[in-house]
Amino acid sequence: MERKVRVRFAPSPTGPLHIGGVRTALYNYFFAKQHGGDMILRIEDTDQTRFVTGAEDYIIEALTWLGIKFDEGVHIGGNYGPYRQSDRKPMYKQYADQLIETGWAYYAFDKPEDLENIRKEYESQKKNFQYDCTTRSAMQNSLTLSAEEVKRRLDSGEPYVVRFKFPADTEILVNDLIRGEVRMNSNLLDDKVLFKSDGMPTYHLANIIDDHTMEVSHVIRGEEWLPSAPLHVMLYKAFGWEDTMPQFAHLPLLLKPDGNGKLSKRDGDRLGFPVFPLEFHNQRDGSISSGYREEGYYPEAVINFLALLGWHATGDQEMYTMQELIEQFSLERVSKSGAKFDYEKGKWFNHQYLQLKSNEELAEQFLPILKNKLTTNTLPSLEVVAKVIGLTKDRVNFVSELWDQVNFFFVAPEEYDEKSLKKRWKEESPKHMTEILALLEAHEDWSADGLDNLIMPWIAEKEYGVGIVMNAFRICLVGAARGPHIWNITDVLGKEETLRRVRIALDKLG
Ligand code: GLU
Repeated sequence: MERKVRVRFAPSPTGPLHIGGVRTALYNYFFAKQHGGDMILRIEDTDQTRFVTGAEDYIIEALTWLGIKFDEGVHIGGNYGPYRQSDRKPMYKQYADQLIETGWAYYAFDKPEDLENIRKEYESQKKNFQYDCTTRSAMQNSLTLSAEEVKRRLDSGEPYVVRFKFPADTEILVNDLIRGEVRMNSNLLDDKVLFKSDGMPTYHLANIIDDHTMEVSHVIRGEEWLPSAPLHVMLYKAFGWEDTMPQFAHLPLLLKPDGNGKLSKRDGDRLGFPVFPLEFHNQRDGSISSGYREEGYYPEAVINFLALLGWHATGDQEMYTMQELIEQFSLERVSKSGAKFDYEKGKWFNHQYLQLKSNEELAEQFLPILKNKLTTNTLPSLEVVAKVIGLTKDRVNFVSELWDQVNFFFVAPEEYDEKSLKKRWKEESPKHMTEILALLEAHEDWSADGLDNLIMPWIAEKEYGVGIVMNAFRICLVGAARGPHIWNITDVLGKEETLRRVRIALDKLG
């Protein structure tokens, strides 16, 4: 029988979710939904020393913002709970005991300072110490101590750890859905700590037990976990769970924009773009890290952007809805090599999604900014705001950039841009503007066609330069040589305001 697809996103609450983690969550989601499977949110908080208050809520808020819907998880429950490892603490010890009984693990009593000394000694000989099949026989553990001594130490409450006992010289095969067969010799691997005497498992043990008991079918996670995969495969073997071992898929790293190394949590503020989905306020040092949501990104743009960092379909389509990604995503088409984090492309996606919004929707989003800039009695109607947004939205990537594009519609210029004046305000401009003013004053039809049919023949008849006249006119209305088509501007301003601005300009520049 085909196994039901069940995947999990299993972040550790050690800080804000890195954007790479968001991509991992997305790929899991696409995969689960495509196969009619379940998506689980599990919190891996076995390392209490790295716990950050608020991180779990942050993770849930970020994934909710992006529209990733879970079927089970720490925030919604489910049949395989609890979904937070610290809440599952009582169930892990029996598994550690089982591995000791079957000879796959052993107690180790080496004190941290002893381990530190050995490490230093090795280093002084330019060697690297590893607790493994070649060194374990010289250490303080249940393989070297007598059974009575081990019992005595355990009974007296001496701190211990349980370590995995890798068999010597064994080739371990990891079948990865993206990378194919990855082989590793056990001699290179250290006897990882699985469990500690405080009753807490480490990540490795908890992760395997949880994936097994939660009936996870596919483990889709970042490449940084590939080195741990041989241990995980061996743990499934040690428990006798090989038949239901999940299939692995290790996703390529996200690289810095220049391709040199992994995109780190610190890169965001260093390089001037967010590496977190939401803004994060660090309680410890008071620092604030920027987030995509607060930068003005649409969730669908972030999803589209991240989806293509490491995966692409066969054609050259770039814009994908969530539904299309669910339908078209495949692990086979995830690349093996790292994906450069091209932040400009992220902006491009937001630009595209902004263009797809209706002007009315954008007007609603822009209104808070407008209210900040204008006094209540100068606030234009939503209809007018929508109209000017329609004229300018192709010039912006974010709603927050709209003000710079539309401000002159609502506020008459008080100053005139130096550069524009130098280039576009000619000696004859005052004369042109005086004439245009007279023409417009006497003119009734304020439609774009009406104005065009009035002004263009006049320019032709007088043999003026169209560019010279119209640029000067634009400077009067806008304050600079920018903005949408001139008749769109006069349309929004109306006759009275247009004439007023020309008079003021003549006054100031004349
Ligand atoms: N807790 C691990 C992390 O934070 C999850 C690794 C895995 O998915 O197995 O990335």
